[in-house]
Amino acid sequence: MTRKITRRQLLRTAGLGAGAVALGALPAAAAPEAGLLRGGGRALLGGSAGRGVLSLARVWPADADQWAALWSFDDTHARFDDGSVELLLWPGDLPRLDALGIRYRVTLPDLLAHEASLREAARGRRAVAVDVPGTGTTYRKLDAVSPVEALAGVTSYYGDLRALADAHPDMVQLFELPETSLEGRTVYGIEVCSDVAREDGRPVFYMDGLHHAREWPSGEFTIMFAYELVTGYGKDSRITELMDSVRTVLVPVQNPDGFTRSRDALTSYLSAHTPLDTPLLVSEQEYHRKNTRSHSGAPHPPLETGAGIDTNRNYGFQWGGDGSSGSPTSQTYRGPEPFSEPEARNVRALLSRLHAVTLNSNHTHGRLLLRPPGARTFGAFPDEEILTELGDAQAAHNGYRSIFSYELYDTTGTTMDWGYGAHGSLAYTYEHATSFHPDYPGYIAEAWTDGGVRESFLVLAEAAANPAWHGVLRGRLTDASGAPLPGRVSVEKTFEIPLWKDGDASNPAGIPALTEEHTSEMVTDADGSFVFHVNPSRRPFEPDEGVPYTVTVTAEDGRSASRTVHVGRGDVANLGEVAVS
Ligand SMILES: [Zn+2]
Repeated sequence: MTRKITRRQLLRTAGLGAGAVALGALPAAAAPEAGLLRGGGRALLGGSAGRGVLSLARVWPADADQWAALWSFDDTHARFDDGSVELLLWPGDLPRLDALGIRYRVTLPDLLAHEASLREAARGRRAVAVDVPGTGTTYRKLDAVSPVEALAGVTSYYGDLRALADAHPDMVQLFELPETSLEGRTVYGIEVCSDVAREDGRPVFYMDGLHHAREWPSGEFTIMFAYELVTGYGKDSRITELMDSVRTVLVPVQNPDGFTRSRDALTSYLSAHTPLDTPLLVSEQEYHRKNTRSHSGAPHPPLETGAGIDTNRNYGFQWGGDGSSGSPTSQTYRGPEPFSEPEARNVRALLSRLHAVTLNSNHTHGRLLLRPPGARTFGAFPDEEILTELGDAQAAHNGYRSIFSYELYDTTGTTMDWGYGAHGSLAYTYEHATSFHPDYPGYIAEAWTDGGVRESFLVLAEAAANPAWHGVLRGRLTDASGAPLPGRVSVEKTFEIPLWKDGDASNPAGIPALTEEHTSEMVTDADGSFVFHVNPSRRPFEPDEGVPYTVTVTAEDGRSASRTVHVGRGDVANLGEVAVS
């Protein structure tokens, strides 16, 4: 079926694509791990014995069993040469470490107090004026900014996205993702390129941030790239060429509910003026990682410990596997079904309308540049040579360790693996910084410039235009006599995505596979010619040649014609004249 509406209209108005598997409502909350879940504010604030603030610890696992036992703890991604790893200890974790017999040392007994002292120390420092586009005085908030905050230079993602689109209508287009978040917040993205309203077939670079609520730099760097592009266009030849040749699509805040909970934690406390158990209350919220899905039955209790689903374990490719948890209060809880969460469904819907040749999902921390696959059991993915070459090329600028994602630890159900596994995108996960949200003035601008984050993003964005790394469909729309006609071109494909070990205990929903529909559109030139830069028609794990694309050209008067075509990475498929009748 040919769609008669544009890609952008789809993004504004559509629910999930027609090919999306209809997933049922979230089942009744699964039983939480005993003792870890405290529902509602009262119990949380009661100050029961044995609870404490959040701490950091270094842990020396001695054998495979001890490594395996660490799955259920909150890993910060910090690795040390002596084989130790850093964990963020939540209330109740210390006795669990003791019970496991793992050697550990608490390195920071009170994380929040430590950060408060850093903030205090920074207060006296004069804010250094930096000439970096899109930077301010502190981390952005999601949307609303109070008059007092505005005076202090605080801005918001949504305010800044709107302002960018208003100021640069020729280069920036704001769009809404199809679904609101669990708490009803709109999720926004922007498309940035020259002549952005033209629906052409330029290759796409996709990037997002803030899957994980506490990882504040991940959203900052995502939106800063938009400022870099619009500021440099027409002035910097490299940026100008990028803007003319690649469409950049950015979603700075994938998880607005979790981010709001984390970013506003301190403000919420200070405005409450009540004698609460301050450090626990604030740090539990500020270090929240997941979305805010309740496991206690209440709609969205803001103070429920362990609330949420890890939206970066909720994607469908090999969902349910190693490195994701089936336990609701776990920090890596994957959810009851693939794509159970609107935040992950949004990215799925967006990517199913694009050909994102290159893709990056931003996170903190660890100074790592991770490439697929997420789980060790897969070994290397089919495009390993390109993935390594391109990963190393980015890391050469920011000094991050360029490694297989599983070398950090196993993951499944991530954006990165979905991008590669479902679409063949050259997909990466960045782990910026050395803590989840470092002091803003001491980190963001310098990491962007001297630290090489800007440069590494440019390398990945430019790689989308590399003809060796994607496919090209070209041709010309004509009438029966060969006279050129302007019109639209759609490229469609339906295919299957494997889940983890189909049907075993890790896949309790018993879903054998996901059926995905990929549909993208462009408008031809006035003379009917088209050049559509696409991902390979053969998805990475499809057998044989894979399912071909169906390319449909439709003239303005509604006459159409279709062709099926295979196109590989680095191939140009020339359809020649495609006559409608
Ligand atoms: Zn993360």
